[in-house]
This record gives sequence, C-alpha cells and structure tokens, in this order.
Amino acid sequence: MAKLYFYYSSMNAGKSTTLLQSSYNYRERHMNTLVYTAAIDNRFGTAKVTSRIGISQEALVFTNETDLYQQIKAQIRQQPLHCILVDEAQFLTKTQVYQLSDVVDKLHIPVLCYGLRTDFQGELFKGSQYLLAWADQLEELKTICYCGRKANFVLRLNEKGEVVKAGEQIQIGGNDSYLSVCRRHYKERLGC
Ligand SMILES: [Zn+2]
Repeated sequence: MAKLYFYYSSMNAGKSTTLLQSSYNYRERHMNTLVYTAAIDNRFGTAKVTSRIGISQEALVFTNETDLYQQIKAQIRQQPLHCILVDEAQFLTKTQVYQLSDVVDKLHIPVLCYGLRTDFQGELFKGSQYLLAWADQLEELKTICYCGRKANFVLRLNEKGEVVKAGEQIQIGGNDSYLSVCRRHYKERLGC
C-alpha cells in the first residue's frame, strides 16, 4: 500500500544522498521515479538534486504555486510512476502537503519527502509542520554534533563564523553557513 513518508533531519545529515539512493533502487528494478526540489528563487523548469558525495538526478522544481497533485496526475498519463521523491520538503506549503497526501490516497503512488525539521531559530518549517502531522511514516535521519550527541538543531553562522540570532527563515544568496548541533550546544552558542 502506498504511503506518505517524511524523512527529517538537521543540516548535512545526507538527505539528498538518501533520496537519490532510494530513487536508484526503484530505477534499478525498471520502475519510474519523479524527483522534485524547491525553487527557492521562483524559477520554473528543471533542476538537479545533487548529493555531497557527487551523485545527482534531474528534478522538477516546485514553487509555492505548483499544484503537485495535478502535475503528477498529468505525468502519469505519459508514463506510469512508481515513486515520487521530494527534496527540500520543508519549503512545501500546507496545501502542497495535502496534495501529496492525495497522490498517495487517490493515485496510490508512494511519496517520500526529505526535509529539515526546524530552522536556525528552532522553529518548525511550514512543510515539515504538516508532514510531521500528516505523514504515514516518520523517520529521522541522524547526524551528530561536534560533541558526539545527536544534532537536532541548526545554527546559522555569518561569514565571520558568528552565530546569527534573527532574520528571515530562508536566506537567498547570502554567505551564511549552517552548523548542526545538539540542543545543549545550540543554547550555549546562542547564549540562552
Ligand atoms: Zn553538542
């Protein structure tokens, strides 16, 4: 039976690598997959999901306006699809998470979503909020803090390596970087 899956983690836990491996496993068995990724800058068209270990696959991009259910329904008129994989799923809207649940319930295609649970201020992303609420299956992809504990928080660092405490949830074209840390070190670095 098809299910809606949400694989969540903090930064650099190998989400894209896991997504591409899952897609490869389907394709190896001559089954078709469709990969989506977020268009942060609102460009339409195709993109690539690339993992840090160097593998990649063509992907369709979604913006806030993309009707994922209608698009996938149109795709299966061309060819059967056996699995939908969504990278950067934290950027989905509530409506799009609902559409993906319809892909599972009405089109009977499994949907695997991969995304960040929380932003650099410890707040849930919209897409993750509804995936955590509505997915059939939740799985955490773990990564570790420099101290060895599980890292479930993300620090935003500016170009000088200083912790950024406020700002937009999504930063486009900046020089900031992100560091996955445990809750204890998140509090310590933020000074709270
Ligand atoms: Zn730590």
